[in-house]
Amino acid sequence: MEKIALLGCTGSIGTQVLNVVRRYSDKFKIEALAAGSNVGLLDKQVEEFKPSFCGINDYNKKDSLNIKKHSHTKFEFGADVLKTAVSIQNIDTVIIAVAGMCGLNAMLEAIKCNKKILLASKEILVGAGNLIAKLVKEKNIRLIPIDSEHSAIFQCLQGNNREQLKRIILTASGGPFLNKSIEDLQNVSLEDTLNHPKWNMGKKITVDSATLMNKGLEVIEAKWLFDLEPDQIDCIIHPQSIIHSMVEYADSSVICQMSYPTMEISIQYALSCPERFNTQVKSLDFAKIKNLEFIEIDKNKFPCFNLAIEALKNNLTLVLNSSNEVVVEKYLNGKLKFTDISKYVECSLNKFHKIIIDTMDDVFYYDQEVRQYTDSIIK
Ligand code: MN
Repeated sequence: MEKIALLGCTGSIGTQVLNVVRRYSDKFKIEALAAGSNVGLLDKQVEEFKPSFCGINDYNKKDSLNIKKHSHTKFEFGADVLKTAVSIQNIDTVIIAVAGMCGLNAMLEAIKCNKKILLASKEILVGAGNLIAKLVKEKNIRLIPIDSEHSAIFQCLQGNNREQLKRIILTASGGPFLNKSIEDLQNVSLEDTLNHPKWNMGKKITVDSATLMNKGLEVIEAKWLFDLEPDQIDCIIHPQSIIHSMVEYADSSVICQMSYPTMEISIQYALSCPERFNTQVKSLDFAKIKNLEFIEIDKNKFPCFNLAIEALKNNLTLVLNSSNEVVVEKYLNGKLKFTDISKYVECSLNKFHKIIIDTMDDVFYYDQEVRQYTDSIIK
């Protein structure tokens, strides 16, 4: 029985992880749950999965949960709960599915404790990828991606010689604004932005998908997950979202992973690999699909994608991520126009263009600095 700590259990990925655990309860056991503030859902999850530990980040929720009802579970509140959940001794696998870089401390703890890590929070690798990758290698940690594109790459790498990899090709749906003009983007509403055509996800990643920042973050995520040079990572828009990403080898053979758009496969494969279990996903009906299209990314229309690629070249991905997290939150609170997102991120990248990040302390220091600065220029 694989014992799991699930961080971000009430989010979009977290609830889907629990669907897999529910279906394969003979193989997986939830030992620890941690969430931000959704105590209503958390209460039901604790009731069902009976973890030995449950952590809630929001201290103010202390009195809104009937702790006594759950006698088998130890509850904690406050900012340290993610780390505490990870460090529980009998846990084998840590699943990090919190929104943003706030799972970094927990990830470091999981590495320190030699846990297997299933990672959905790409921001951690964008913010501190070089340092994390080094630690993962040194300690020989099993790090498995949950992000669908990276799961696809991970699957396409199985059984092939890693030395003979030429490049990877990440696919992008193009988001809700693929067919809008640059002028149209001046006037799109928050509602339009949150209305993604292919994927139903958390709010932060849905905004990132609309700006294509998400694809930029995924390029950076891929670099550190698979130890690639930036020029080995290509991106292409594929509106049908059937091909989840591709790998090209030395002989120019391209291998891809396909399915209808769903996170179910990548989440379950992260848990089951190298085995494959049944899912409820329908088999592809190619005759019905008919066409798979590919379109180049318009970098003028989606400046956030470019900012990410430039940030990777200039070792400024921490600045990119921290500023983007702040700007997206402001955008979700109705404070900004869609086209302001790239402007403010660019402004922060310019402000911090000289910083050098050598240690984890630098990461935590500049993360705060960038967030404060970005916040101050928006106010
Ligand atoms: Mn993705």
